[in-house]
Amino acid sequence: MEYFTNPYNFVPFTGTCKRGALTLGPKECLTGYFDCELELLTPLFIPNTSNKSALCNEEERIKKYTGYEFCSYEDLSGDTRLGKAGPKDPVIPGSEIRGAVRSVYEAAFGGCMSTMRVDGALGRRNPSPKRPGIMEREGKNGWYLYPCERAMLNAGPTREGQKMPVEVYASLKEGQLLWIKLSENRYKNRNYMDKVVERYKIPDGGRIPDGYCQAWLHKGEPFGKKKHHESVFYCKNEERKMLVPEEEYRAYQQVMDKYKDGKAYSASPIDENRVLVYYVNQNGVPRNLSPACIGNEIFQKTFRKILESNGGFQPCVDMSELCPACKIFGMVSDGNGTKGAVCSRVRFADACLGGTLGSENVEDYYGPCVVLPEAG
Ligand SMILES: [Zn+2]
Repeated sequence: MEYFTNPYNFVPFTGTCKRGALTLGPKECLTGYFDCELELLTPLFIPNTSNKSALCNEEERIKKYTGYEFCSYEDLSGDTRLGKAGPKDPVIPGSEIRGAVRSVYEAAFGGCMSTMRVDGALGRRNPSPKRPGIMEREGKNGWYLYPCERAMLNAGPTREGQKMPVEVYASLKEGQLLWIKLSENRYKNRNYMDKVVERYKIPDGGRIPDGYCQAWLHKGEPFGKKKHHESVFYCKNEERKMLVPEEEYRAYQQVMDKYKDGKAYSASPIDENRVLVYYVNQNGVPRNLSPACIGNEIFQKTFRKILESNGGFQPCVDMSELCPACKIFGMVSDGNGTKGAVCSRVRFADACLGGTLGSENVEDYYGPCVVLPEAG
């Protein structure tokens, strides 16, 4: 086995989750059991959690490494040493089998997604650094992005660079053209920081002064505890202009709609055909456009909302409204709108060695010890 992969198989939802009350007629009140035989087709590992360093030597124990023995009825807690304990009769707990059977039943018979944590926020982490850019609409050809640099404008609580009075800042619109003179060094002399706007001028129809360059004001989120400067974009690179794919522009509009809801970026632009954005350069294609330089984008949707609008497969919470799987395997309502619990109508026993298989040659059932790769 050169690498390990979880053998998941994804089954799409079909139709809707049909729920009803648990009503048992005489024909449904049968009891009984059946025996099953189980043959392993791949290696399997289930830990015996009574000792988490059962397979560790002295040094590994001191370093608090973990090495589990396979699941058995043996209590391995205490001073067990590698090789001394030895493998015991392996056992597959009934709870493991039950979980696997239930998820197949849920997929086959339209059960709810009973084990899903449905209320966490969905997010996606984008590891690539975001870069400043100016996006311009050019006739019918769509939007193009020009890479830029960013500099820090003193419009807040700082002493670095020429101060822009609050009332001037408030009167300017998003995307306002400025003439700026940059500091020689970066902020606090740190090479990962941007340069500071040493002097600025609001263009007055005259000539741009020597030593100044064009820049565009990007009004970000309000000044708070952390934010000390406003941003201006400058050094617009005409030669490296990139076409913005249509789907990326649409995604950007959605991000903007969301920001407008939160009122964080309410400044309306001075020119509707010029937008200041941050983007990720993915092999020459601008992607993940957003008004802020954040690496982690949070979606507003939760799994619950997605499941509700895709057939209602969110976990059951009401004992009078049970899906086919919860009727058989039971459910416990979560905190919101708790309406009781329903016990399971099936029970799974553990899978043990049986028949001619026995304790004498128990080693034969085990492969060599495997060290899992990091994050494996
Ligand atoms: Zn259910």
